Amino acid sequence: MRREFSAGGVVVRNLRGRPVLAAIRPAGKPDGTWALPKGLIAPGERAELTALREVAEETGVEATPVEKLGDIRYVYTWAGERVFKVVSFFLFRYRAGRLGDIPPEHAHEVAEVRWLPLEEAPRLLAYKGEREMAAKALERFSR
Ligand code: ATP
Repeated sequence: MRREFSAGGVVVRNLRGRPVLAAIRPAGKPDGTWALPKGLIAPGERAELTALREVAEETGVEATPVEKLGDIRYVYTWAGERVFKVVSFFLFRYRAGRLGDIPPEHAHEVAEVRWLPLEEAPRLLAYKGEREMAAKALERFSR
């Protein structure tokens, strides 16, 4: 089976006194399909660096690494071929920038961006693995 390796970020900040995370709706997905920013790891690239880059490209915000959250695994089918995918996720703290200030060359990848309440993210995110990453971030944030 073809394999694919990506990395992504859970970017957390406080907004009006409550923790929120940066979520995207990938282009082509129906309303309410919330996902975490992520992308393919370039050859030789450190996963954490990939995640920071993808966060900037897909959400417009700059972030600071906190710690690794974990890896998620899934299989999807593309053009009749099954792909086994591993995505490494990192917990990041928001540093600068406006959510949605996406570089024009990446604007077509993202339909919508939003700060989701961290407490609700484990329920609002569309994919099980990503919901688990949000739950971990919530755990770390509230201890
Ligand atoms: P990347 O963001 O890593 O560059 P991509 O956008 O090319 O990747 P994916 O986001 O992996 O590709 O999406 C490929 C397929 O897998 C889509 O049908 C998507 O709905 C599905 N998918 C995405 N994330 C998950 C997940 N965490 N669990 C299960 N299926 C997922």
